[in-house]
Amino acid sequence: MDSNHKLQEVLDGISSAEKQAGRKLGDTRLIAVSKTFAGDQIEPVLRAGHRIFGENRVQESQQKWPQLIQKYPDVELHLIGPLQSNKAADAVALFDVIHTVDREKIAKALAAEMSKQGKKLKLFVQVNTGLEEQKAGIAPDKVIDFVNDCRTVHDLEISGLMCIPPFDDNPGPHFALLRKLAKQANVEELSMGMSGDYQLAIEFGSTCVRVGSAIFGTR
Ligand SMILES: *Cc1c(COP(=O)(O)O)cnc(C)c1O
Repeated sequence: MDSNHKLQEVLDGISSAEKQAGRKLGDTRLIAVSKTFAGDQIEPVLRAGHRIFGENRVQESQQKWPQLIQKYPDVELHLIGPLQSNKAADAVALFDVIHTVDREKIAKALAAEMSKQGKKLKLFVQVNTGLEEQKAGIAPDKVIDFVNDCRTVHDLEISGLMCIPPFDDNPGPHFALLRKLAKQANVEELSMGMSGDYQLAIEFGSTCVRVGSAIFGTR
């Protein structure tokens, strides 16, 4: 099955999960995660009309997206991988949304770059819901204070929270925790759900699912 058919399957899967959960149709945005795939593998999905894409590395994105954006200027590009502060300028220049704000230094660097470039990105705070040592994200008990600091110290608007549940865990409790924290932090959006669990994430209120392999195939 080609990526166009798979894209349509995922879009149908999203609609049916929204229906199942009693949510409004179209409430959930699909980020097509194109990391590791080359421009010519991404283009069929662009030609099918999809415009929201996710990448996890700044450098890889700089190599393939400028040409695609020239052809499809209304692309909305999301950074879903960890960000180093020395890449903040490049990230602000290329991306529209960043899902991985997780520490003071990054918040500060993004605030400075956005004002320098006169560009306002949509931002998510990444939460390490499984407290995994190797994983990025802020600890759940630090989320409220961090979101408030982003607002008051750095004058940043935070749109939502993002998580990547531990690979071996049932993701449900992680989605529930993220939803609870978002309510407490007073943010609207939830970036959660991947190829294997996006329908479950929608039941838990996801507004942004990040789906790669179910569209582009295995990496
Ligand atoms: C790769 C990636 C995804 C997509 O994963 P799939 O299982 O291929 O859908 C989602 N979120 C993040 C942060 C990723 O790095």
